[in-house]
Amino acid sequence: MSDYSMTIGGQAVGGGASFAVLNPATGQVTARAPECSRAELDSAMAAGQQAQAGWQADAAARRAALAALAGAVEADAAGLARLITQEQGKPLREARSEVGDAIGDLRYFAALQLEPARVGSGHPAVSVIRRPVGPVAAITPWNFPLGTVMAKVAPGLAAGCTMIVKPSPHTPLAALRLGELARGILPAGVLNVISGSNEVGEWMTSHPVPRMVSFTGSIATGKRIAAAAAPDLKRVTLELGGNDPAIVLDDVDVADVAAAVFDNAFSNCGQVCVAVKRVFVPDHLHADFTEALAERARAAKVGDGQDEDTQVGPLCNQMQFDRVRELVSDAVAAGAKVAAGGRPAGGPGYFFEPTVLSGIGDETRIVAEEQFGPAIPVLPYRDVADAVRRANGTHFGLGASVWTSDPERGAAIAPSIESGTVWVNTHQSAVPGQPFGGLKHSGIGVEGGTWGLEAFTDVQVVHVRDRA
Ligand code: NAD
Repeated sequence: MSDYSMTIGGQAVGGGASFAVLNPATGQVTARAPECSRAELDSAMAAGQQAQAGWQADAAARRAALAALAGAVEADAAGLARLITQEQGKPLREARSEVGDAIGDLRYFAALQLEPARVGSGHPAVSVIRRPVGPVAAITPWNFPLGTVMAKVAPGLAAGCTMIVKPSPHTPLAALRLGELARGILPAGVLNVISGSNEVGEWMTSHPVPRMVSFTGSIATGKRIAAAAAPDLKRVTLELGGNDPAIVLDDVDVADVAAAVFDNAFSNCGQVCVAVKRVFVPDHLHADFTEALAERARAAKVGDGQDEDTQVGPLCNQMQFDRVRELVSDAVAAGAKVAAGGRPAGGPGYFFEPTVLSGIGDETRIVAEEQFGPAIPVLPYRDVADAVRRANGTHFGLGASVWTSDPERGAAIAPSIESGTVWVNTHQSAVPGQPFGGLKHSGIGVEGGTWGLEAFTDVQVVHVRDRA
């Protein structure tokens, strides 16, 4: 029996099969969530399809409903943050900030409008209109259980699309709660939230109803989704994995920059698509920088995210814990020097010591692959051209950062870096309206800002002459 219900056509659904959701800090079952059946998915799709015309027709009603939903999420913010920590593991402070960002997304998109563009002199009258694509299948990962959902739901609904949302089976609870909150606020069928296995995701991408799949997750799954969406030409937005380089220049204050890089590598236990995942440091600063980073790693308080003083929580699940352990062991076998951590931090949860590695080459798996965990390699470089070449020497292209006491020097390097975002003296930061997406295998399309809203629309041209 499930402790949570899905939201389909404005109703609570989910008396059938269920699956266990574990608390990563304990490895124990924290709740059971509904396993969506094929028939339930079909009704969610039908509900989205039926609600589409009405939702699309009234922009003012949409704006009011989204603002009301933001109020309901805000009223439940403390509970949602606890739920996120309970199912995902991150420190409560980070979970609160995730909820705050989700509320910000709703309010931002509730207020954003896409105006028709005029083309030509006015005779004939040619306008370019943005039409919602239609029902959207949204599929999300486990690292930001509410944040990745809201990054789709807020612009998708604002654009006039109805949505059928499936969060990760590791972390379905915050999204299911969002569905509950929306029940009395959005018209029935506008936001359908289901939960279930990867197979449910496959049913969604090959289903005839959605006109778009908005996906956040791994590159491997992103490729499968692009292939599954091709036969009936669904639009796709793919926000995929990263292996972000931080390039530290020779003019930095080592202690300050190591502190900032540490935060950007280890927040959410390193499970952030745009976490710093490789650090490039000039030869002569390499030893000092590695030690400064290692000092932070040794001092970080690892523990249950529910404890207010925890800095680094557990990995989210057994699979990710095993992967990080395997990549660290592989690096050690390849001759890595372990400057900090290097081992599991003791169970029963999925805790791993914050780990800093040096003495390995770019071909080592933890450098070449996305580790998505609390372990960071520090790599010496000869000159900036060498660092940029190696930063680009990958099929990833999500984010990157340059760290320097001369911001203009940093900004001048940005165009040579192949990534969707290049930060200077920060990483992961965003202001409202800033788009986000990946180059190369890190994605197709963007989320955020006007560009992210347009992604849920098709272009329609209306060309009017006074007479034939
Ligand atoms: P994942 O690809 O394993 O799963 C993501 C979602 O896809 C889950 O809901 C899953 O059930 C579903 N799914 C799995 N197989 C499917 C299939 N064949 N068809 C349809 N749906 C399917 O990813 P994950 O392990 O949950 O997430 C971690 C990855 O997500 C990392 O690579 C990380 O970098 C990436 N990520 C990217 C961003 C971004 O915005 N670029 C943000 C967060 C996470």
